[in-house]
Parts: sequence; structure tokens; C-alpha cells
Amino acid sequence: MLGAGGFIGTHLVSQLKRAGYFVRGVDLKKPEFSSTEADEYLIADLRDPAACRVAVDGSPFSEIYQLAADMGGAGYIFTKENDAGIMYNSALINLHVANECVRLGTKPKLFFASSACVYPTRAQADPRSPHCAESAAYPAEPDSEYGWEKLFSERLFLSFRRNHGLEVKIARFHNVFGPLGAWRGGREKAPAALCRKVAEAKSGGEIEVWGDGRQTRSFLFIDECLEGLERLMRADFPGPVNLGSEEMISLNELAEMIIEISGKKLKIRNVDGPLGVRGRRSDNRLIRERLGWSPSAPLRQGIAKLYAWISAQVEETPRVP
Ligand code: NAD
Repeated sequence: MLGAGGFIGTHLVSQLKRAGYFVRGVDLKKPEFSSTEADEYLIADLRDPAACRVAVDGSPFSEIYQLAADMGGAGYIFTKENDAGIMYNSALINLHVANECVRLGTKPKLFFASSACVYPTRAQADPRSPHCAESAAYPAEPDSEYGWEKLFSERLFLSFRRNHGLEVKIARFHNVFGPLGAWRGGREKAPAALCRKVAEAKSGGEIEVWGDGRQTRSFLFIDECLEGLERLMRADFPGPVNLGSEEMISLNELAEMIIEISGKKLKIRNVDGPLGVRGRRSDNRLIRERLGWSPSAPLRQGIAKLYAWISAQVEETPRVP
């Protein structure tokens, strides 16, 4: 598991352990909010080809999950301040992972975590009806360098499949959220950032939402994501395939949902901030058809779990002035 110290990686390690697998975790860091359940854990920088070789080598692994990336929410990927790092770091990791997996000669199944950010800006200009069918990714025009890097790496892994027989699986994750993810510090995504703002606010006050709040998104709870991912790994289908929810919500509506869950009385103030496309929602036609998968629970259920976790974090953590 490459990226085992991150949000999705931490949950995925636990799921694979529950399923009885031997798991080696690899990351620059240990998980921040829990201990890892991996059998082995290597601290390694996967931009280094030698470290990458050590990471995938050893007892022949039947599956390799490539989740390691330089990533964050809108405050990280849309400000343009981190673009060089995002492109360079993630592309280097993916180049070395692809190459080292072929060198192994054992032909593990290789999962690559791509993103909804590959879809073109023009297909997502209308917040009420964004077009995110898998084929809409071309002609390419992602709205961030993060999206361009994901598109490049999808093509990289598919080239290694074509030329070297690497058994690749690719999912395009759409805004996965849940406990144990970044909730402050600049890399947090909208659901975690809004939960933190609500948890920190005093009833009667207000919270800030970036933009006019009418931009739309769909969000997928982590447990649903892991279920879809498992189906992809077992299926005779490489993807790329969307792994997300079709329940679309505006950012102001999401903030209202969290405020209602908290039981507080809070106003929303829309302020300038880094924004992505106007509208984005997973199109699940392909994944329903090929894997028979759809999310099983409404968004509110997952958001309530996230709010409970973040409000506990806020209570336990001293405020940074
Ligand atoms: P995350 O940032 O929590 O996890 C990524 C992990 O990669 C981090 O633990 C980080 O330390 C590690 N990493 C970064 N550079 C590394 C390096 N040089 N060597 C070793 N490890 C390194 O992100 P996440 O939310 O868990 O996402 C996992 C994957 O899914 C990423 O590839 C991300 O781009 C993709 N994805 C996530 C979402 C989402 O909503 N969470 C959406 C689309 C795509």
C-alpha cells in the first residue's frame, strides 16, 4: 500500500487486514490520527527509484495500491502556489512505481487512484448539470495541474499495461471524505473544512464558505469508496471508472446540512477563496453497469459521522492563535 499514511490509505489498510491479507504500508509518514494496522510499515520517499524498488519488492505481493500523491483540497490545488510540487512529486512517484512493478516480473495487480479533477472545465460550467461520464475527459482541459498530472499518470499506467502487460486498475475518486482525514492545516477538503468551521463556531455566530456557495459537488463516504474499490479489484475490468456519488449538493447546502447536524444556530457568509469548477458530480452509469456498484447510504449519514469525529478533534486540540 503506497500512501498508507494518508486518509484513504489508512482505511484501506484496515479493510485489507479485515479481509485477511498480509499488508506492507509505505509512506513518507505514519498515519496522523490513528496507528496503522499494516503488518510492515516502511517510511520511504517514493520519488526515489531505489526506495520505490524496496517498497514493492520482497514477498511477491498479489496487489499493489498506488495512493501516494502530493495532494490537498481547493486551498492546496487551486491557489497555483503548489503546482510545481504537485506535478513533479506525483509524476515522479508514478513513473517509478510503474517501472518498478514491471521490473518485479511477478505481475501484481496495480491500482492507481485517479481523480474527478481530470474532467474538463467546459463540461462542468453549469452547476446544475455537469458532465462527468468517463469519456468526457477528452479533449482534455482539467482545471488544475493536479488534474493534468492524474491524466498523464492514467495514460502512463495504461501504456505500461499495453506494452508490458501490467495488470492495471484505475478509479477516478470523486471527493472522498470521512474520519481520519486532514481537517486543518491547508490540505483539508470542503466537508472537513466546513465541519471544522462549524465545530469551532459559537452558536449565534457565522461561518465562511468560499465563493458564492452555489458551486456544486458530490461527496463519497470512505466506506462506500472502499466497497467500490474492492469490486474493481475483483472484476475483469481495468477502468478508468468513476468512483463517486451522484447525490449533488451546493457548498452552501452542505454547510447548512452540517450546521443542522451540529444543532447550532449559525449564518453563512460567502467570501472570496480558491475555487474549482462550477459543478461536478460523479456519473455512475459505467460503474453500475460493469461492477453493479452504487453508494448505499445518503450523504447526510456520512457527514454526521465526519462531524462527530471532527468536533471531537476540535475539542481535544488546543486552538492555534
Ligand atoms: P492523502 O494526502 O491523505 O494521502 C496521500 C499520501 O501520500 C500521504 O500520506 C502522503 O504522505 C503520501 N505521499 C506523498 N508523497 C509521497 C512520497 N514522495 N513518498 C511516499 N509517500 C508520499 O490523500 P488521500 O485523500 O488519502 O488520497 C489518496 C489518493 O487518492 C491520492 O492519490 C489522491 O490524489 C487520490 N484522490 C483522493 C481523493 C479524495 O477525495 N480523497 C479524490 C480524488 C483522488
